Amino acid sequence: MKAIVIGSGFGGLALAIRLQAGGIQTTVLEARDKPGGRAYVYEDQGFTFDAGPTVITEPTALDHLFAAAGKRVSDYVELVPVSPLYQLRWEDGYQFDYVNDQEALERQIAAKSPRDVLGYQRFLKYSEAVFEEGYVKLGHVPFPDFGSMIKVSPQLVKLESFRSVYSMVARFIKDEHLRQAFSFHSLLVGGNPFETSAIYALIHALERKWGVFFPKGGTGALIRGMVQLLEDLGGSLRLNSPVNRIRVENGRACGVALQNGESLSADLVASNADVVHTYRHLLREKPHGLAEGKRLGAKRHSMSLFVIYFGLKRTHDHLQHHTVLFGPRYRELLADIFHGATLPEDFSLYLHSPTVTDPTLAPPGCSSFYVLSPVPHLGHAAIDWETEGPRYRDRILAYLEERCIPNLRADLVTSRIFTPFDFRDQLNAHHGSAFSLEPVLWQSAYFRTHNRDRKIGGLYFVGAGTHPGAGVPGVVGSARATAGLIFEDFKQMGKAA
Ligand SMILES: Cc1cc2nc3c(=O)[nH]c(=O)nc-3n(C[C@H](O)[C@H](O)[C@H](O)COP(=O)(O)OP(=O)(O)OC[C@H]3O[C@@H](n4cnc5c(N)ncnc54)[C@H](O)[C@@H]3O)c2cc1C
Repeated sequence: MKAIVIGSGFGGLALAIRLQAGGIQTTVLEARDKPGGRAYVYEDQGFTFDAGPTVITEPTALDHLFAAAGKRVSDYVELVPVSPLYQLRWEDGYQFDYVNDQEALERQIAAKSPRDVLGYQRFLKYSEAVFEEGYVKLGHVPFPDFGSMIKVSPQLVKLESFRSVYSMVARFIKDEHLRQAFSFHSLLVGGNPFETSAIYALIHALERKWGVFFPKGGTGALIRGMVQLLEDLGGSLRLNSPVNRIRVENGRACGVALQNGESLSADLVASNADVVHTYRHLLREKPHGLAEGKRLGAKRHSMSLFVIYFGLKRTHDHLQHHTVLFGPRYRELLADIFHGATLPEDFSLYLHSPTVTDPTLAPPGCSSFYVLSPVPHLGHAAIDWETEGPRYRDRILAYLEERCIPNLRADLVTSRIFTPFDFRDQLNAHHGSAFSLEPVLWQSAYFRTHNRDRKIGGLYFVGAGTHPGAGVPGVVGSARATAGLIFEDFKQMGKAA
């Protein structure tokens, strides 16, 4: 039996590993010249820049994946714990070290707002309960029909999943800085804390349970490890191979046509590419493809990001690996990012300083960074990033220089930017969204793109646009759900894998 996986993001590679380990001959087709998708790697003048994911949470998702192939993660890559998990900084000078240590957290909370210590303890309990229901029980199971959704709705109601993350945090915690500290996490999977279901408060419990990790050699080393595992199992990855069309015969996916005209056959096709791109473009010859593309395209998509990768000719030992710089506005800025038609004047930033953990990612004595700013996607803010990009970069670098990296611009050795146009053009992301469908309740679980197409046999989906959603643990979990459906379907068809 043969499978084709379109796209080599974390989800595509994880699915390919599971299929290949299960005896299905699997080929991954990647449009770009390197694997990883959002986890692409840039190498400029001796600096290594991970393009996307840097906070690796929930290492057991990776353990399960490698174990399914009879291996351990440590056979391929070393995951190093990072502490503090994040350093949070506000413009008024307040600073909070978000650590995975109850006593240290409570000490900082008590110093800021004594009455919130008890509230935090109650919030942690709530977060652990949602983690158990929403992640441990449901994070890697598919929701192929409405009945599967009905079954879990009593738990979702009990956990008040119809509320937003922020409103749930605010119920327990009164201080505004601390409310921001414990609610911003849904942004890491593309959700506005004021609109995303409180289920996403589970991220706090998940981070507290395991902490956060960084692969030695960067996230790219983890991607390389996954590619190596796939190849060790006998599977293959073809780079520079954009798929132009999914071939469908007698109602079943039977292969793909590449942009270079080559045609490949398979018993099943799984798409890790953007879900709107897959239906609207790769299935454009099928009325079902056009209809689904239109339906999904009209849904809410998460924000885009503006990212600057830059290398400096010195180190900055006062910085932590992960820093969040909150701007002057929180709720209002998020409303502008998720609904506004223009680029807001102010920003909140995430600063990645990987050489704090792994100095080999820059030449000796130097340091590599990226800084990202959440920005509106192209569907509601028609910003011309060709002209705005360089201006926005200059504003952000000046701001960083003023707030936390003195002499930044004088020390700059190299820099490059990635804008919403690049998400759209290089990753085929609808509206240039960084995280695909927005994780609001009515676009989650059954209401997300199904891991198996309803009409076309042998057609599957994996990645951020499917259940459970964006983020490395999410898409690795989606691969588990999709692989489970594939093995079930082909067993039923009497085709041994
Ligand atoms: C800047 C940034 C920072 C992030 N930080 C974190 C973090 O710290 N922690 C975390 O857990 N998550 C983070 N995320 C989210 C996480 O990176 C993504 O949710 C996840 O990596 C998406 O994986 P995916 O499997 O959906 O595939 P993607 O990474 O979206 O890859 C899809 C692949 O499909 C390919 N493709 C598209 N069309 C075609 C075609 N026609 N033919 C062939 N190939 C095609 C693309 O080239 C791409 O390689 C971040 C995201 C971004 C953008």
